[in-house]
Amino acid sequence: MLNITEIRKDFPILSRTVYGKPLVYLDNAATTQKPRCVVDKIEEMYYNLNANVHRGVHFLSQEATNAHESARLTVQKFIGAKSPNEIVFTRGATESINLVASSFCRAFCKEGDEILITAMEHHSNIVPWQLQGDIKGVKLRVVPIDENGELHLDELVKKISPFTKLIAVTHISNVLGTINPIEEITKIAHEHDIPVLIDAAQSVQHLPIDVQKIDCDFLVFSSHKIYGPTGIGILYGKENWLDALPPYQGGGEMIASVSFEKTTYSEIPFKFEAGTPDFVGSAALATALDYVSEIGLEPISCYERELLEYATQRLQDIKGLHIYGKAANKSSVISFLVDGIHPYDMGMLLDKMGIAVRTGHHCAEPLMKELGIQGTVRASLAFYNTYEEVDALIKGIERIIKMF
Ligand code: PMP
Repeated sequence: MLNITEIRKDFPILSRTVYGKPLVYLDNAATTQKPRCVVDKIEEMYYNLNANVHRGVHFLSQEATNAHESARLTVQKFIGAKSPNEIVFTRGATESINLVASSFCRAFCKEGDEILITAMEHHSNIVPWQLQGDIKGVKLRVVPIDENGELHLDELVKKISPFTKLIAVTHISNVLGTINPIEEITKIAHEHDIPVLIDAAQSVQHLPIDVQKIDCDFLVFSSHKIYGPTGIGILYGKENWLDALPPYQGGGEMIASVSFEKTTYSEIPFKFEAGTPDFVGSAALATALDYVSEIGLEPISCYERELLEYATQRLQDIKGLHIYGKAANKSSVISFLVDGIHPYDMGMLLDKMGIAVRTGHHCAEPLMKELGIQGTVRASLAFYNTYEEVDALIKGIERIIKMF
């Protein structure tokens, strides 16, 4: 059992007020709040360990390098990767997908090849592939979803063709909360010799992840959605894939030797880490992962599921409120609309009550089109949220309905 009152003390921002009201932060799918230990780590890095990594012979540089490389080991352990060489530091999930899209398509795709995605993808798992379409003539194929927001494996199989070069799928939808069967998807893909990229931006913070068990070829996530700092993220890639892909960006750190005639590249993962890495961010991300591991992803996911069930029940009782995303296996994201109230108005009015939710298309415009709507109101819960906060949301919605 989690002690939420104690946990909330780790997050100073949760006790602040907005418009004179206690903050009720229900926008965790956009970004999560930071525990004190993460902010302390950032301060410690700048005050005590600030030196460029991998280059210097001096003491400070070695300490900073040790912190950065030990963060890589923490990430490796956190997602169950075989080797630290499979962990590439990027700016976030978006950059990780762009890296794979660019390098993979450059090396392995030709005009008419297909990348298979799903109807529930975030723009960051759509647009990077489309950019490659402009360069390499690669096309997107899209697996549809049903009225509950679920993916069906037979639909996925139907979309696989001799031209399918890669399947890129989100683990959890940032709009519908649907948890996709990524192990089964990977198994099917591998039966067709197709590699799989998992967008875990919405899942690492909610569910234990084991990349070897999933057997995916690539997996991406962002630090800021798992209580870590902004501006850093992870690309996991199986060693054979990372070895096979050409570099994404050029610069310092990623080379073995440079001459005007010919340049050779570093080994993985450094081949993909051009320029000075965010060694402050990596150390603080590792602190966030340690923090989450100490609390435990099993209890976190158990508590969040209970909170989700409670919130769903209470929201369903509100007349005229419609929930989008009714998958049997669902994460703590609830998108909804209320008859006659524009989602933007709902979001603005909730905000005035101190309740932070997200409104709009949530960077999933094609999904909105599938659902036949312009946008939703989205409440996304984290393990520091409480039943009282859900009650505040319900009360707020009921008050707003009365105003209209
Ligand atoms: N994929 C999903 C499913 C997301 O929800 C997000 C963030 N909203 C991203 C990718 C992109 O993450 P970032 O903006 O941190 O790169």
